[in-house]
Order: sequence, then C-alpha cells, then structure tokens
Amino acid sequence: MNCETCGAKAVMARPGRCKEHFIEDFERRVHDTIKRFTLIQDGETICVAASGGKDSLALLHVLKDHHPIEALSVDEGIAGYRDQTLDDLRSYCDAHSIPLRIVSFEDLGAKRLDAETHDHPCSVCGVLRRKALLEYAHDYDLLATGHNLDDEAQTILMNLLRNNDTLNARIGPRIERGDLPARIKPFYLTPEREVRAYCLLQGITTNFSECPNVVKSFRWRVGEHLSELERDVPGAKRNIVERFLQQQFEDDEELSTCPRCNGPSSSGVCQACSLTISAAHR
Ligand code: SF4
Repeated sequence: MNCETCGAKAVMARPGRCKEHFIEDFERRVHDTIKRFTLIQDGETICVAASGGKDSLALLHVLKDHHPIEALSVDEGIAGYRDQTLDDLRSYCDAHSIPLRIVSFEDLGAKRLDAETHDHPCSVCGVLRRKALLEYAHDYDLLATGHNLDDEAQTILMNLLRNNDTLNARIGPRIERGDLPARIKPFYLTPEREVRAYCLLQGITTNFSECPNVVKSFRWRVGEHLSELERDVPGAKRNIVERFLQQQFEDDEELSTCPRCNGPSSSGVCQACSLTISAAHR
C-alpha cells in the first residue's frame, strides 16, 4: 500500500499514509478537534493530566510546541506498573523542560491502591484520581487529558448499557465545571491505534504495557466487544461518539456539586469524599 498523498510506502492504512504524512495528518486533525470544540482559548493555562502512558505522552508531544503546558501525574500505588510509566514521564518532561508534579493517593489521605484487595479496583482508582487532579489542578484554566476516541466510545456505551444518563454530563470534548478547570480532550476524535502509531513513529515511547487491574474492569470488556464490532462495521466507534455529540447538544445536562469539596457530584457528597472519609475512619 502506498501513501495517498505522495505515493511513498505507507506505514498506516485507511487512509494510506507514509510516516511523514501520517504524522502531519495526525497533528492537523488533533488541532482541528481543538478548534472544532473550542477546547483551548488564548491565554488559558493548561495542566496535562499525564500518567506516562502512550496517550498522555503523545498529548504532551502534540501540545508542547503550541501552548505553554505543565504536567500533573497521580501515583495510585500500583507496584511494578506505575513506577515504570512515571519514570518514562519524568524522562520526557526533563527532556522537553515541561514542569511536572506527581501526587500520590497517600497525599490525598487515602491508601496506596495495592495496599488493599478491592473487588473493583478501577472504581476506587478512578474516583481518587479524579479527586487528585481536581485538587492539584485547581489553579489552571484547563485540565487536558489523553482520552481518545476509543475511550469515549466505551464510556458512552457503558453508560448506555447501565442506563445511566446522568454520567453522560461528565463526558464530551470540553466539560465546564464552574470554578474548577474545564476538562478538555484533544484526542476526542483520534482512534487509539493512531495514538499508538504516532508514539512509535515519533519515538515517544515503546512502552504499551497496561495496568494489571485493567482486565477486571467493565470498561475492558466493553472495549473488547467494541473493537470486535469495529472490525465488522468500520467507523462504529466514531459513529457512537458523533451520535452522542448530536444528542448532547440537544439535551445538555447539569451536574450538581459536592457540599464537601465543591467538585462535580451526581447527588450529595461525591464518591471521592466518601472514600477519603471512610479511609480516615479505618
Ligand atoms: Fe486505575 Fe483501573 Fe486504570 Fe489501573 S486500569 S490505572 S486500577 S483505573
């Protein structure tokens, strides 16, 4: 297969792209997404939520030459996994002079994730990570995350399968949250396979290891089914996300606020505060 732009040997299919044109096209489409959803406006300060995995490293790479950025990472306490991605993140940020702050679950008053056995580790982890990012990114205008098209299609489908419409108010390319930094997703329309290819071709990382807990999550199972569907119906993930966008503009929902931390909550005290209160009493 050849590159549809220059005829050189393609490194990516659908559409065929050589290395140079794939990278150019990838970055152009991310910046188009930023414009389409007005994700970043002049003068807004940006904190990138970075784990050191492929998505966040690629996001730092795409944004760093266009916007002043800083990185914030959360160390959940997952031995043998997070230590490695944090090393990659430190190296990347050092090499590109990006200020980096790392906070741990213990800094929040909670325990390391691997200090206890959890039936649903991702639920606990997700809630506490969100809380850490909200607390430590408070002074920025924007919190940019590396969520990609696959992540978003999974989330929409998960909410649909659980008949949980309220959670749809927490997704979308730019989520305004009162006094808190708006959450933005520049890879909102970028497939995961392209993020991976971009990392390899740009030499950003070759570490695509996943958290050992991921296979216990509902998200993982939904992701597996979705990828199978995508093979039968190319474009299925994009179609799910575009359909959601149409619906969201028709029916924009409001989140209520946690009375304890002022963060977003579907009702009353948020899950993060409930978890830190119960850890303090153990
Ligand atoms: Fe946390 Fe689950 Fe992600 Fe692991 S897979 S980092 S436990 S949310």
